[in-house]
Amino acid sequence: LGPRQVRGALFTWVRPETQKEPELLAVSPAAMRDLGLAQSEAETDEFREVVVGNKILGWDSETLSGPGYPWAQCYGGFQFGDWAGQLGDGRAISLFEATNPRTGVRYEVQLKGAGMTPYSRFADGKAVLRSSIREFVVSEALNALGIPTTRALAISLLPHSKVRRERIEPGAIVVRFAQSWLRFGNFDILRARGDRDLIRRLATYVAEDVFGGWETLPGRLDDPDDPSKTPTPQRGIPKDEVQGPEGAEENRFARLYREIVRRNALTVAKWQAYGFMNGVLNTDNTSLFGLSMDYGPFAFMDNFDPAYTPNHDDYLLRYSYRNQPTIIWWNLVRLGEALGELLGAASAVDTEPFTTAGLTEATAPPVVARAEKLINQAGEEYKSVFLAEYKRLFTARLGLRTTLPTDFDTLFSPLLDTSRGPRARLPPLLPRLHRHPGGPPLRRGPLLLQGGHHTGLGGDADAGRQRIADWLAAWRERVVQDWGRLKKAKKKEAAAVATARGSEAADGERMAAMKKVNPNFVPRGWILDEVIKRAEKGGERDVLKRVMHLALHPFEDSWAGREFDGVLFEGDKEEEVRW
Ligand code: AMP
Ligand code: MG
Ligand code: MG
Repeated sequence: LGPRQVRGALFTWVRPETQKEPELLAVSPAAMRDLGLAQSEAETDEFREVVVGNKILGWDSETLSGPGYPWAQCYGGFQFGDWAGQLGDGRAISLFEATNPRTGVRYEVQLKGAGMTPYSRFADGKAVLRSSIREFVVSEALNALGIPTTRALAISLLPHSKVRRERIEPGAIVVRFAQSWLRFGNFDILRARGDRDLIRRLATYVAEDVFGGWETLPGRLDDPDDPSKTPTPQRGIPKDEVQGPEGAEENRFARLYREIVRRNALTVAKWQAYGFMNGVLNTDNTSLFGLSMDYGPFAFMDNFDPAYTPNHDDYLLRYSYRNQPTIIWWNLVRLGEALGELLGAASAVDTEPFTTAGLTEATAPPVVARAEKLINQAGEEYKSVFLAEYKRLFTARLGLRTTLPTDFDTLFSPLLDTSRGPRARLPPLLPRLHRHPGGPPLRRGPLLLQGGHHTGLGGDADAGRQRIADWLAAWRERVVQDWGRLKKAKKKEAAAVATARGSEAADGERMAAMKKVNPNFVPRGWILDEVIKRAEKGGERDVLKRVMHLALHPFEDSWAGREFDGVLFEGDKEEEVRW
């Protein structure tokens, strides 16, 4: 059987396969909480059956009735820049939507690896343990870091399933959930088919239903120095016409597009600030809700290399670290094109007569011109929202409270550069900055770098060490200036602080703030490899729960320098930087 084209529909009803003797390996306590479930519910037989698709909540298989039957989405996508046609949920099946009564947040809960769907194309609809462990851990790790992402509730092993990859492996199912699983590809496929009616209906659904309960984010029109220029956040995407940027008339769909742009700008800025790479940023893997999603060959940056991509097939480096912001914008332009007719209409109502009309009518020059203008303006907004967030995070990670225009060149970039070269890593340096064993860094003292055979560039240890020493000196000056200046505004005795003596109180405050943004644990590739090896070959069970615990508490100080199951993580001791 070949792939089946599903026209005129956004999804297909589909049932998960029945699984024999599934074994629940781990749950995320944070996910249980966010879904409004008591931790003890994970112990029940019903939970074990639901998380593999053996029991369908809301569907009575005897009477074949009930409010909830599972479904798989139809979407397409541009893969590596080329139109790939219909893709769809080939191995994901959505079960139901659930609202946490405490937070009011609604999630769509789905299974990954529960069997074939009409969108499986030539594949088997299954997932192996390896990739399932990676997705399970990283989803929850990103969320704990404050990066918008789809989530993972539970992972089960299917001991009787045989999945053919490079070898035969057991299958696994991850239960995932998200405020929305819609991606740009949901619009791409409709655009490719010229299904303008469904584009409008889907866009209306997204504006009303997906974004309905959420406040809109601040955009580039916001002026922190002039509160009157900051629009009050609105709930949802209002229907009525409002003024857009530079006075342009803006309809609901333009507002929706801008909101999607802003959300994605924020998310990609966070990826950049934490060194996260998705690896496959095709439009079918880019979320309309601005979530990080679809975890394949993702990675956290190890040795800093802006041209690095964790995707070994990506020989053009399209999805490398430094390209991520550009590529997300490229994807957003494709989305803008799919929505073009709606964006260009003077009002949402204007688009009604288009629904049955021919495409040529829709591409009337004024409509195209308005859409183009809006997409370009959204591009400016994308850049400024991205930059503001990247700057905010980098500034916070360095323990600064203000950013100078010169910080990019004198602090941010050089820090990344010091982290280049074999085994000198970016994120490990940052967490260390707030817990120098030699006392508060505001005090002057000898700058000591221990060991150091891998701190440098190109293997030149001395040059590398010097580079880090120089950077630390520059950073320290900035911290003193920044905190001194702020104090000065507040208090008279500020001068004392500014003399680089540093008060204990200011140091304490700064270090506490830094701790909240500098993780001591991120699931690097080798940690995941280790967990997978132990879970797969050794049949170990607890290791997965332990690494999940670390992933859920990334800012915990006690991990620092600790061993991870016999392997030292984040902490080659020789790399330690001392004052
Ligand atoms: P991805 O590269 O993960 O974004 O996947 C691209 C497309 O391939 C999506 O439509 C997936 O659902 C589909 N796909 C990937 N792996 C499988 C599989 N094992 N079975 C069915 N469909 C798959
Ligand atoms: Mg995908
Ligand atoms: Mg995938």
